[in-house]
Amino acid sequence: MRNMRGSQHSLANTQKLTIIAQDPSVKIGGKILVAEVEVPAEELLPGPRGYRVNVIDFDTATSTLYQPAVLKPDANGLYPFELKKDVHGVVRKRPQNYDKRLLSDPTFHAQNVYAIAMRTLSHFEFALGRRVPWGSDGHQIHIAPHAFVDANAFYSRDDRAIFFGYFMGPSNKPIYTCLSHDIVAHETTHAILDGIRSRYLEPSSPDQAAFHEGFADVVALLSMFSLPDLVSQLLDLDSSGNHLISNAHLTREALRKSILLGLAEEMGLGLSKGRESALRRSVELKPGKPYMSMPEFSEAHDRGELLVAAVMNAFLDIWIARLDKIGFISRGKKNRSLVVEEGARVASHLLTMAIRAIDYCPPTDMTFGDYLSALLTIDREVVPDDTKYGYRGALLKNFKNFDIVPDADAGIDGTWKRFDKKLVYSRTHFDSMLRDKEEVFRFIWENREAFEIDERGYIEVQSVWPSIRIGPDGFTLRETVAEYVQIMTLQARELKALLKIEPPRDLPATMRIRIYGGGVLIFDEYGQIKYKIANRIEDRKRQTARLKYLWESGALDSEQKAGMRFAQLHRARMSRSE
Ligand SMILES: [Zn+2]
Repeated sequence: MRNMRGSQHSLANTQKLTIIAQDPSVKIGGKILVAEVEVPAEELLPGPRGYRVNVIDFDTATSTLYQPAVLKPDANGLYPFELKKDVHGVVRKRPQNYDKRLLSDPTFHAQNVYAIAMRTLSHFEFALGRRVPWGSDGHQIHIAPHAFVDANAFYSRDDRAIFFGYFMGPSNKPIYTCLSHDIVAHETTHAILDGIRSRYLEPSSPDQAAFHEGFADVVALLSMFSLPDLVSQLLDLDSSGNHLISNAHLTREALRKSILLGLAEEMGLGLSKGRESALRRSVELKPGKPYMSMPEFSEAHDRGELLVAAVMNAFLDIWIARLDKIGFISRGKKNRSLVVEEGARVASHLLTMAIRAIDYCPPTDMTFGDYLSALLTIDREVVPDDTKYGYRGALLKNFKNFDIVPDADAGIDGTWKRFDKKLVYSRTHFDSMLRDKEEVFRFIWENREAFEIDERGYIEVQSVWPSIRIGPDGFTLRETVAEYVQIMTLQARELKALLKIEPPRDLPATMRIRIYGGGVLIFDEYGQIKYKIANRIEDRKRQTARLKYLWESGALDSEQKAGMRFAQLHRARMSRSE
């Protein structure tokens, strides 16, 4: 019998699984680019079915249930589709028909979606320092890699599932959306963001709908660029193991072309047409136009591209600044692994920051300006001294280039102001406040005047999350994030009298209207309030603008279901001609 203690100690925390690094059309030397990614280790049932993800490969178009994937190592210790490496960790040869099997074996497709979904989830859990629920009920989400025939993929809260479609490409070869890293990471991010901020799927402002799309793209792109092997090969399309890289490949223009644009150009064959244009467009957008007020950037995906452009250009700026500090080894050449490491490190830091910022955004009616202030604030909390790499400066500059400025309530440097009003702490218990919704509600109610919370309407504490953030230097920051929402339901004719909101013209007087407000309270490790980041329910200007937008876009009379919205949004995007 095995010693229980001993075996527990020897359990690994992570395991490596092979995925397609971008999508099957991205090849170097004629071979599909694959990567090994680390995912949390677990004993998987066939499917794979694990503690957070259940892959069920049922195809509704053909009523076929595919064989479940079994992710167990073979007699040589190799996991399915793992390539054999030599002592230097270099893959010398691929088995015959390896690439063909990646494309045609449904069990690889199941492995690919499982690994990318779990990797995405673990990025969130690492960044936030806590477990993160899916937006749908239950602990496990279903993923269907071949759900239907259509150039589409979507997350559905009601079905507790993510569905991936497939379709016939040119020369009658099937194209699978489940084999595109970006599409899988993007859809998984929708499901996770919905778990952190469930109100973001409700109709609000152009920014809020666009945020779901732009943020899902940012997470997909940065998690791809945090794979060092991938970055290394894309820089100069050299996979020979050359230790040096010519500086000609490291200029701003060359990096833009190879890493971002080059990648997008490789995605041919009709696969992820929408993704391709989103990526290419967001990198090619010229800075300095009044984008946020331009009608062509009001649709959710188009507007989301502004966020992607701002973050990816900041990524390039910071990486280039760090490359300048690496000396030449021989004439015009730098150490490849240092160059790659810096790029992957910048991508990881930005990804962690991008995820943590969600905690610092209001729970309803968020704007891009809120998100920028949240990014700057959480980074300052974790990395007080930004002079070495200048992340915050690069973000401020690049967001401004795409017409996104910090929220008007933020301080002079764009960060949220610290909460400095006097509060009553003595009537609530410090210990339970850090995990108990009832206790936090009592605290809010007690202090509603200081928090400027209107007591009319419904107030609910939605979540209380103790969180631990680990800084780049190993320093840890403990915080508790409590989220409350306020909802008032009233008739259109009452808007003016009760909330001084001017209803849009032609709005029927008896139409039932819901008005939202709410905020997050950030407690420090001693249970004291550091920040209150809120949208007040009686904010006349914001509520008037929101109602006007909803009325004009037709969202007020069509109560669409969240899942349906994604299905429609994504179909519209995939089928767009450019
Ligand atoms: Zn989407």
